[in-house]
Amino acid sequence: MSASESCTRLTEAHSKSLLNNHDTFLFDCDGVLWNFPEIFPGAVELLNYLTEHGKQLFFVTNNSTKTQDDYAKRFNDIGYKAKPEQIICTAWLTAQHLKSIDFKGRCYVLGMHSMAHELEREGFEICGGIGPDPLASDATAIKTDKLNLDPNVNCVISALDLHVSYIKILKAATYLNRPNVLFLATNDDASLPQSDEVIMPGAGTILASVATAACRSPTILGKPHAPMFDAIRSVFPNVDPKRTVMIGDRVETDIAFGNRQGTTTLLVFSGATSEKYLDSLKQGDERDLLPSFCVKDVQQFLNFLKSN
Ligand SMILES: [Mg+2]
Repeated sequence: MSASESCTRLTEAHSKSLLNNHDTFLFDCDGVLWNFPEIFPGAVELLNYLTEHGKQLFFVTNNSTKTQDDYAKRFNDIGYKAKPEQIICTAWLTAQHLKSIDFKGRCYVLGMHSMAHELEREGFEICGGIGPDPLASDATAIKTDKLNLDPNVNCVISALDLHVSYIKILKAATYLNRPNVLFLATNDDASLPQSDEVIMPGAGTILASVATAACRSPTILGKPHAPMFDAIRSVFPNVDPKRTVMIGDRVETDIAFGNRQGTTTLLVFSGATSEKYLDSLKQGDERDLLPSFCVKDVQQFLNFLKSN
């Protein structure tokens, strides 16, 4: 795709063509449908409109702090009847990936309870990493003979962990120092979407600490990496990239993900990527960051679809 073939400003005609020529719509959530708790105008109506027109919808999010059921409840609460299997979140994705490789053994997880819920639901055993693992406040040294390391851990999973600590990074890196221990990461986002001046470190921040200490590189599952699409295709083999639209607000994750998987991509300017930033990218050579189409927001896309 050349710069001249991409970043087309969406029109009514393009919108109708997207509707007529595609069966599946993948939505990122934060910055596209909402900045929770604020739901963007037109978001719920767009989801219902596409569903009424026979389209298959999935919600692809790198957020590992919620389960499929958590997200399905949120959608139902705001007026869109979502089934849990439409939610492609990284906690679920991690469990699916372990299933796909017929993983046997125990996992040490830097993550939240959502990770434990999805992994245990598929029968995987977790030993440590979820919740606080603090040092005594007066600690000046680590007692390495008191770490209670599990001899049966053969997978370390790095996700967003609000209780991350030195001791948890130490344990993760120590497990990874053993031969044949699998190293997975839900995603490598630098920060979380945030509308004010506060920077919320993302899962990539924690991953960088673990990878640096362990001197190892993980398999990263979430957008823009391929395992997320592989998981969708394994559960829904009818999803055809050529008849799929990926709608997102961040070029480095959502748009790169869709482009690499061969979908049509639609960037909305209601979130992470500004028009000015997109313009600057057109001068560069990172073609997979350029969306097929761009539009102000989901409300405008809906208006185009509904216009006569
Ligand atoms: Mg987003």
